[in-house]
Amino acid sequence: MTKYHNQGVAFLTQHGKESLVRDALEEQLGCRLIHTDAYDTDQLGTFTGDIQRQGSQLDAARQKAKIGMSLTQLRIGLASEGAFGADPFGGLMPWNTELLLWVDEERQLEIKGVAQGPAQSSSKLIETLEQLDSFASEAQFPSHYLNLRSEDQHHTKIHKGLKDRAALVDAFREIKKAAPNSMLWIENDLRAFGNPTRQGVIRNALKDLLRQLKSLCPQCDSPGYWINKTIAGLPCQSCGNKTRGAIAQQWHCPSCLHTQYEELPLQHLADASICDVCNP
Ligand SMILES: [Zn+2]
Ligand SMILES: [Zn+2]
Repeated sequence: MTKYHNQGVAFLTQHGKESLVRDALEEQLGCRLIHTDAYDTDQLGTFTGDIQRQGSQLDAARQKAKIGMSLTQLRIGLASEGAFGADPFGGLMPWNTELLLWVDEERQLEIKGVAQGPAQSSSKLIETLEQLDSFASEAQFPSHYLNLRSEDQHHTKIHKGLKDRAALVDAFREIKKAAPNSMLWIENDLRAFGNPTRQGVIRNALKDLLRQLKSLCPQCDSPGYWINKTIAGLPCQSCGNKTRGAIAQQWHCPSCLHTQYEELPLQHLADASICDVCNP
């Protein structure tokens, strides 16, 4: 039995994310997910930029969790917040980082489930129906929904969540009618219910969160006992100097602050590519 057996967990979301997390969360923790949509989370920021998010991804998630807890009168809350940008390696690939934040007021705990991966988040300026159709197939439409608006954002509303060709073409014609000479801005809808690629990343963030919630501290028995640091120093296979490769990791309890070093099994030496002596 886990620490959260039979406990209610508040989840404030408007975009169908409760159906993504409910089964795994309830099966693995024995808790009850209490969904609320009584607050318009779009007020805290939207992906289309009509409302800018204030603060960091973590700030936004924390704020959502707290609002959900207060609306449901619960002391445990969950929040989901996504971010999109370029990949951290070459900066060329659209990238998605998902955070699932668990807030436990009783234990004064905050646990972060994180996952990242390639995103389906294309966008383009287009002019003709032909270009519209060609973008749509590149952007994995209709399994992934689209947003469409005039290039000049002040003139037209954004058509969000377009999920079939008839709706897409209607939106195109409506915008063209209002502003015949305008280019159109088309993009993937990044809200979870319209973006299966993002749903996969959220599921991975949930796995990360559940692993931590089920890991109990050997000293105080609180959930969230997890690796918070890796210690570098794996010898280089070519010159023997210490590299950035991990040689040990530190486990940490966010409740009682108990920490423990764990040496990693030395299966092989570090590749010379991560050695500052061989490959500065
Ligand atoms: Zn502890
Ligand atoms: Zn070396």
